This record gives sequence, C-alpha cells and structure tokens, in this order.
Amino acid sequence: MSLVALSVVTPMFNEREAVDHFVARLRPVLDGLAVPYEVVAVDDGSSDATVARLLQLRADWPQLRVVALRRNVGHQTALRAGLRAARGEHVVSIDADLQDPPEVIGEMLAKARAEQVDVVYGVRSDRSTDTVFKRRTAGVYYWMMKRLVGPWVSDQAGDFRLMSRAVVDVLNDLPEPRPVYRLVVPSLGFSSAEVGYVREDRVAGKTKYPLSKMIKLTFDSITGFSAAPLKIATWVGLLSFVLCLVLIITALGAWSVGTTVPGWTSLYIAVLLLGGIQLICVGMLGEYIGRIYAATQGRPAFLVSFDTDQQEPAGFAVADPLPDDPADRLQREHETIS
Ligand code: UDP
Ligand code: MG
Repeated sequence: MSLVALSVVTPMFNEREAVDHFVARLRPVLDGLAVPYEVVAVDDGSSDATVARLLQLRADWPQLRVVALRRNVGHQTALRAGLRAARGEHVVSIDADLQDPPEVIGEMLAKARAEQVDVVYGVRSDRSTDTVFKRRTAGVYYWMMKRLVGPWVSDQAGDFRLMSRAVVDVLNDLPEPRPVYRLVVPSLGFSSAEVGYVREDRVAGKTKYPLSKMIKLTFDSITGFSAAPLKIATWVGLLSFVLCLVLIITALGAWSVGTTVPGWTSLYIAVLLLGGIQLICVGMLGEYIGRIYAATQGRPAFLVSFDTDQQEPAGFAVADPLPDDPADRLQREHETIS
C-alpha cells in the first residue's frame, strides 16, 4: 500500500446538496498544505445523486476518491469503511456538511507533527449553531458516557479528529462489529492534543441523524463499553428482596395480632413495579445478547460496491446541477479566466 501524507475521510449519506459546497471549501485548504493527499468520500448508500455528483467532481480533482457502499450502514460504520480504505500517514475524519470547518485540518496536521502526538481532537468551543434539542440530547449523552466509559471522554469532541497511521491500524484491527469511534479512540490511550473550533451551521440539506439513529448510537455506546446496566438488575433485585423481608415480617406481625393489612393498593403497585423492572432488565440483557448474536454471525458490517482507486465505475448518470452548486461556478470562472 503506497502511503500519502494525508487522507481526509468523509462519510456521506444523501449529501447531494452539500457536496459541492464541501468540495469547493475543502480543496483550496488541502492544496494549500502542499503535501500529497487523498480525500476518501464514503457514500453510505445514498438514494440521491451524491455518487454521480462525486464522480463528476472527481474528473476535475483526481485526489477525490469515491468509495461507495452497497447500502446505508450508518455514520460510524461508513467511517469504518473509510478508515479501512484510507492510505494516509495521517487520517482526518470530517463530516460532509461543513459543520466542521476544513480550515482546521492544517492546524491539526501542524500540531500532530510539532507535538509528536498520535491524535488531535477537534474540540467544539461553541455549538450555538446546533439546535437546542441537539445540544440537550448531546449533553445527556456525554454526561452518561463520562460516567459509564471514563473521565477521558470529552463532551465537546465528536468525530472531527486527526489520527496517525498507528492509531488507524489499531482501529482497523478491532474485531468489534460497530465501534463508536468518539469513545474508542480516547480509550486507546494514544498521546493526544486538541484544536478548538466553532461548529458552524449545516451548509445545505437536513441532518441525517434523526432521533432513532441517536438512540441507536447511545445503545451502541453503552453496550460497547459497559456492563453496568446488567448489574442494575442485581442491585434492584437485592433491594427489593430486603424490602420484601421487611414487608413479610410486618404482615406476619399484623396477622398475629389479628389485624390484616388492607392491601389492594400496595399489592397492585408492587406487582406492576416489579413486573416493569423485570421487563426492563430482560430488555437490557437482550441488548447485549443481540450484539453477541450479531457478532457470532460474523456478517460483514459493510460491503464496498466500488472504490475508484481500484476501478472506475460505469453506468452512472450525470447529476443534474443544482442552482447554487459552487464547484460548477468555480469551474466556469476558471474557464473564463484561462
Ligand atoms: N452520515 C452517514 N450515514 C448516515 C447518517 C449520516 O454517512 O446514516 C453522514 C452525513 O452525511 C454527515 C455525517 O455523517 O457527513 C454527520 O451527519 P449529520 O451532519 O447529518 O449529523 P448531525 O451533524 O446532524 O449530528
Ligand atoms: Mg452535521
């Protein structure tokens, strides 16, 4: 595998509206670094014209490499496909919607080289452009992860980070089917530094992280790192056992002096409460067993449909231009000047 100095990995799911803006802003940054680079755009089974447009843009930017997955597998798994494909001595992962500013990449690379660290985290110094809902749910998520996973989890570091080849090789060798990189990377303990950045607005299109995907990420994060939920059943069980002993003694005492406890309400509550707790505990067990089951099946987490590094795909229609495609505008300006 011939290495380049830098790979920029970007998972994209239905990003037709954002892709031109992304390319128009990323390219001058990378060209300005004056190091050999590649951009690994991982198409996560988009149903819009993302792939067709990427292939079109690639004609003018050979460093843009398109890795298309066969179907949508989710952000983290698409990232995994990108990390597998990347050939860089340093690898940066970045979102396609320009919420992570590409200009910071240069700063990350300089810091990694100057301070000789393996990981440089992009740390959000301001996320006021995110919705209140997003900030609140992210707040709860990171609060929980800090307690369950460890204090090294940064509540402001997402998936915008630079990693050395050593880190990427370790990640690629992980047998875990669905690693949550923002937790796995800090847990490895490589030397690291941080670069602050302001999180911007999504440049175009809508978020591809609906509530259902956020919940899935949360479950993957918890089960991937902690068996604590399984222990909850033990502790609640012990507590209710002690409580039961007290109640039995009280009831027997009342019975021995001839007063029976008027008990419908308490009986009802106890049955419902314990039934509910038991179901929750069985459900938690199910979350772990489901993952063990999936792991033993050993099916691939993703399948690559094509990688332009290996073969140029045929049969892709040309993507219709959008009214505000900046890459087209740049190209036109370039043509009129030359
Ligand atoms: N993404 C992906 N697959 C998915 C969902 C999202 O590859 O199933 C990509 C998406 O195209 C973007 C990145 O993951 O580049 C982050 O998604 P998004 O910006 O929608 O998330 P948010 O910033 O709203 O949390
Ligand atoms: Mg985003």
